[in-house]
Order: sequence, then C-alpha cells, then structure tokens
Amino acid sequence: MNKEWADKNKKMQALIGREATFAEGIDVLMDLRNDLFTQISYIVNSYPAEAYYQMPFAGADGYHSKTLAYSMWHIFRIEDIVAHTLIKGDAQILFTGEWQKKIGSSIITTGNELEGEEIAEFSKKLDIMALLEYCKAVMDSTNKLLRELSYKDLKRCFSEVDKNRVLDSKCVSTDEKAFWLVDYWCEKDIRGLIKMPFSRHWIMHIEAMCRIKNKLCQMARKGADPIARCGLSCNHCFLKDWCGGCRTAYNTCSDACRYPGKVCPNTACCMGKGIDGCYECDSIKECRKGFYEYDDVNAIKAMALFIRKYGKKELLKTMDKLHKEHDFEKIQEILGNDLEEGFGILEKAREKCNRRIL
Ligand code: SF4
Ligand code: SF4
Repeated sequence: MNKEWADKNKKMQALIGREATFAEGIDVLMDLRNDLFTQISYIVNSYPAEAYYQMPFAGADGYHSKTLAYSMWHIFRIEDIVAHTLIKGDAQILFTGEWQKKIGSSIITTGNELEGEEIAEFSKKLDIMALLEYCKAVMDSTNKLLRELSYKDLKRCFSEVDKNRVLDSKCVSTDEKAFWLVDYWCEKDIRGLIKMPFSRHWIMHIEAMCRIKNKLCQMARKGADPIARCGLSCNHCFLKDWCGGCRTAYNTCSDACRYPGKVCPNTACCMGKGIDGCYECDSIKECRKGFYEYDDVNAIKAMALFIRKYGKKELLKTMDKLHKEHDFEKIQEILGNDLEEGFGILEKAREKCNRRIL
C-alpha cells in the first residue's frame, strides 16, 4: 500500500478512536480523501478516451483487473449508496442530478456483478468527465456527512428497516458477486463504514487505478521511439509511470500539456521543419523555444547535442550508465545548468561505458 496513504489512514483510525482527538481524526480523513481524489483527477485529465476502458490486467486476481472508468463508478456508487440510502436515509446523489443519464451508465448498481468483457463494454459507454463530476459531488456530500458526525455516532448500528431501505433501492445487484455487500455494510457501525467504504476502499481501488495507468503508459511506450523530440530520454524519465512519451497518445509531459493538443513548441517546430527532433536542427545552439526557453534546463539541450554527435542509441546507453552510478530524478541534477559542462559530463559517461565494453 502507498506508504503516505497507509500512514494517514492508520493515523486517522487511531485519532477517531478517542473522543479528545476525534475532530482531528476527521481532519486527517478529509486530507487523505483529498489526496486520493487528486490522484483520480490527474488520471482523468491525462489520457486518451480509450485508456478508461482498457483492461491491461484482465483476468488477474485483484482490483487492478478492472478498468479505470469502472473503478471510479464502483468507488463512488458504493459511497453514494452507503452515505445516503443507509446512513442518512435520503436521496442518493445519482438520482438528484440526472447523473445516470449524464454519465451514460446502463446500471445504477455498484457494478460488482459485472465481469470480464462486460466491464470493458460498460466502461466504454461512460462519459468520463461527467463521471468525474459525479464522483466529486458524491465526495463533497459525504465530506459534509463526515464533518457532521460526533464521536458518539461512531457506535451507531443499523436495523432491519435500514437494511430493507438498501434492498428496496435496488442499487445492489442480487447476483451473488454483489448481494453480500448489503449484509457487509449493515453489520458494521459508523466507525466500520468510515473504514470501508469511506477510506480504505478508496485506497485499494485508487492504488489499482495507478497500477492500470502505469501499465497503459508502459504498453504505449512499447515500440515507440524513446527519445523525445527535445532530446530527453522517455526511458529514463522520472515521469514514466504517468507519461507514455511524447510520441504516443499517452503523452502527459508537463510542457506539452500547457499547449493545445499537447503539442509542445519543440514538437510543433520539428514537425514544421520535417525533422525527427531538435538534434537534427542547425539552429539548436541559439534556440530558445519550448524547453530551451529555460536556462535551468540546459541539460536537455546538452542531451540533444549529444544525440546530434553520437546518436540516440549512445544516449540511451549513457543514460543507463548515469542511472546506475547516481541516484537522481531529473537529468539537470547530474548535468547541471551549463550547456558545455552538461555535454562534457555526458561525453565522460559515454567514454566510461565504452571503455568497459572494450
Ligand atoms: S515527460 Fe517528456 S521525457 Fe518524460 S516520458 Fe513524457 S515525453 Fe518522455
Ligand atoms: S528551432 Fe529550436 S525548437 Fe525548432 S527544431 Fe530547431 S532546436 Fe528545435
């Protein structure tokens, strides 16, 4: 489990268990939910439409065997049912804003009854931006409910009347893969529900979403040129779990994302000139476009100049070497900001590489 999320979850559980620290515990819970929702927002705002119905781990045993869209639907349908139908006894968010229609969902249930291709087919029909808005509306509404709780509420249990309300809502499928949920929720007290589904359930599914998107980026990079047009190596990029590379539809490069169609100025310029990358351009030394605009990332230009002199394969080999020898995220941590010095460091690393091979 992601350590930061696991630690916050543990801290929250301990704090809400004592009356004196209950309010602080709810603050930590809000903070955790906010962190987790931010992950979902990043994922939704990053990838092409196809990403949300892909099942790169189809058939695996675990939450990562689903799709990104299904995971979102499932987390927030469960939360909506539990918060509104079970705990508050009022209308679910899904039914108060025509969300089912806006999202384009064929079901109102939690989705537990779906399997294999059914999950992909269901996911394909969903409007992801509308789904994200629904998720946000459910989260906000539950946050309000959690804020209104007192320490004494933690021991509140549920009656047959409450259980029947959930059954009557028909929001849990009678399929055996789903129906167990009704007893599972109704046998818990509020403290148990804070754990499942209001915190741990999110963590488990959002971690699975991260695994799915990492795999999708990895798959996108397969067969694609790993050298970005500016000269960076996508194979060695600290963002490679988030970005499939600027030559794929899974491009989430921070610079590219600032421009329409995720086309950064370096890429646009290279395409206009009909060249593969800035390393083929005669104006590279004096160029100040895109990534080359910033003095503190001269390291990227040094890599492009290195490719110009030695080729892409040599850069990839040299980058492997540098990563073996140093622990770093961004290449400027090693090459510095001076163009000549950075280029020199790359050349020295290349020499060492080739000496060892000889
Ligand atoms: S952020 Fe840039 S260098 Fe990193 S993987 Fe994406 S395109 Fe490649
Ligand atoms: S002018 Fe600059 S951005 Fe355009 S191809 Fe040349 S180096 Fe790249």
